Amino acid sequence: MAAKGNIEDVQTRLASAQRVVVLTGAGISTESGIPDFRGPQGLWTKDPEAEKLSSLSHYMGDKDVRRRAWQARMRHEAFRAHPNAGHLALVTLEQTGKLDTLITQNIDGLHQRAGNSPERIVEIHGTVHEVVCMSCADRTRMLEALDRVRAGEDDPACLRCGGILKSATISFGQALVDADLRRAFEAAAGCDLFLAAGSSLGVYPIASTVPLAKRNGAHVVIVNGEKTAMDEIADAMLLGSLGDLLPALVQGLARHH
Ligand code: NAD
Repeated sequence: MAAKGNIEDVQTRLASAQRVVVLTGAGISTESGIPDFRGPQGLWTKDPEAEKLSSLSHYMGDKDVRRRAWQARMRHEAFRAHPNAGHLALVTLEQTGKLDTLITQNIDGLHQRAGNSPERIVEIHGTVHEVVCMSCADRTRMLEALDRVRAGEDDPACLRCGGILKSATISFGQALVDADLRRAFEAAAGCDLFLAAGSSLGVYPIASTVPLAKRNGAHVVIVNGEKTAMDEIADAMLLGSLGDLLPALVQGLARHH
């Protein structure tokens, strides 16, 4: 499906919206140097086998997978990346007082670094900046675990109970956090404008926030570099780079005092 609507229409809608919910995917962070999975340059598009390596059962059952995972974390772009113009536009949106909730599928923490309030953000797939013990659920900082890897521990164990440590992200085969899902769905059901940015909108259950918002009367806007699975039900679908489009959309919105 081609684009529908235009920037001016969406600007007008945003200006009159009172309660905006934004859903972001990996596409908002590619301009910060973090590759997505399913886009044209995506990690899985280029290497379909890579998808299998992120499964929970492989991680829990195979020390070698964990060693490789820790090495991959050491190299993860999220620890070096900076927010881009797309992230900053969502900070501007929050400053207008219109942003109710920012749901993100990203694990890179760039919305927080850009300056959105942590309490408005729902990280539906967790965060790479924390580590969780798979036995006692103790949460610690990723930077501390990476220091241990750098010092020679190839699969650092929980310092409290000796359990297996993993980044606090949701792996394949791992359940999403109920409280986060509830917050995301409640926000989507209660907003008057729903903006999805940089997601192929094919990952469930979070993709179903889009039809939920629509059913509840929200104006649905999708902004992405290519078509998505939800274009059909969108009121507006803008095609292009998020680093250009998001700043253009929030430009001219009055700040809230
Ligand atoms: P996805 O990879 O399925 O889709 C990303 C979409 O963004 C694609 O349609 C792509 O065309 C588009 N896109 C890429 N760069 C863009 C740009 N500069 N401007 C406009 N559009 C652009 O992403 P997804 O739906 O979020 O699902 C992937 C899952 O993998 C996520 O749920 C997330 O947990 C994880 N992931 C996270 C990160 C991160 O934290 N930055 C990176 C890769 C994957």
